[in-house]
Amino acid sequence: MSFDINKIREDFPILKKEIYGKPLVYLDNAATTQKPLCVVEKISENYLNNNANIHRGVHFLSQVATEAHEAARETVRKFINAKHSREIVFTRGTTEAINLVASSFGRSQCKAGDEIIVSHMEHHSNIVPWQLLQEEKGIVLKVIPFDENGVLQLDKLDELITEKTKLISIAHVSNTLGTVNPVAEIITKAHSHNIPVLVDGAQSVPHMPVDVQALDADFYVFSGHKIYGPTGIGVLYGKEEWLERIPPYQGGGEMIQKVTFEKTTFNELPFKFEAGTPDYIGSTALAEALNYVSAIGMEEIAAHEQELVRYTLERLGEVEDIRFIGNAPKRSGLVSFLVGNIHPYDLGSIIDKLGIAVRTGHHCAEPVMAAFGIEGTVRASFGIYNTKEEIDILVAGVQRAAKMFRRK
Ligand code: PMP
Repeated sequence: MSFDINKIREDFPILKKEIYGKPLVYLDNAATTQKPLCVVEKISENYLNNNANIHRGVHFLSQVATEAHEAARETVRKFINAKHSREIVFTRGTTEAINLVASSFGRSQCKAGDEIIVSHMEHHSNIVPWQLLQEEKGIVLKVIPFDENGVLQLDKLDELITEKTKLISIAHVSNTLGTVNPVAEIITKAHSHNIPVLVDGAQSVPHMPVDVQALDADFYVFSGHKIYGPTGIGVLYGKEEWLERIPPYQGGGEMIQKVTFEKTTFNELPFKFEAGTPDYIGSTALAEALNYVSAIGMEEIAAHEQELVRYTLERLGEVEDIRFIGNAPKRSGLVSFLVGNIHPYDLGSIIDKLGIAVRTGHHCAEPVMAAFGIEGTVRASFGIYNTKEEIDILVAGVQRAAKMFRRK
């Protein structure tokens, strides 16, 4: 399929909605994306026709649901080019996937004084799990800084890596600055010291082709709801050797082989990490979303969104007193900005009344805000269905808000 924006917009019924009597301009895709009809229909079809608890059921419906769930795992494997589907663990999202690694890897591989390296531009979900490990185990959390453009200072990484470094955990794309981090380079450097790397792909997987084998990532995580799939489902990719090496995250059904009060043995991969009834409705709906974007083409999606970012920077650049937060040469998916002294919340509230949905605040990345000495930003973030006309509406809205505040 070629990139047909009109056809794509037709696939998302919510885009026809009016907000305060104005057409919805949805520019909050970094928080969550809208869902195409095929994904919504997949969910209802599953509940209406194929619903039964999966694995171990001998009856027909259970087998149908099990096959659909395992086929979804294979779809995810193909989408990120993992070697085996047993390297794909379904989680509730990026946050749970990082917590899984922090807990399992942390408990089994780290002791007091060991070091984990993150960057200064991480989402709270790639900071706080490591701080919990810090409290529990006495590990040391080290931070790669970024410069005034929001580019990681990789020369500092050499100084941060020591004999005690156990893991580097880093965002592929920053959810506040839009910076695309050189994760392949970081992984190569880390591996030369035998250090594994976790990549937070929450803001990359929806916007560019990702190949976990080409990157040689040890762990790679993302959320279904940011790539046109349902909420409550996400993915942890882990290299088989690592998933074999680290212990289960949660205990319960599904993840065991045999339970006695004397000794319990664990299930094989990936089930060892999937305690309880899996979200087999969510997994199949996520697969539907991945098939949907694959049919359009991730390269085509990346090109479309790159053009939207370029156009937004050009058009918003016309606004008096605009300040862009994050000016990395390699960026993706979003633009963060401030106008004069207008509080981001005020700006967001005014343009909301024009039907424009943007996010304002710290975007769950308070250390980024602290580094710039600001409270928050206004963030416009893009998806496959956004258009230049919508960016024109955004710019007109921002101009109008700025004028109102200048008059005051
Ligand atoms: N990491 C990044 C870079 C994100 O942008 C987000 C979502 N804003 C998360 C992690 C957390 O994702 P979720 O809430 O879906 O678990």
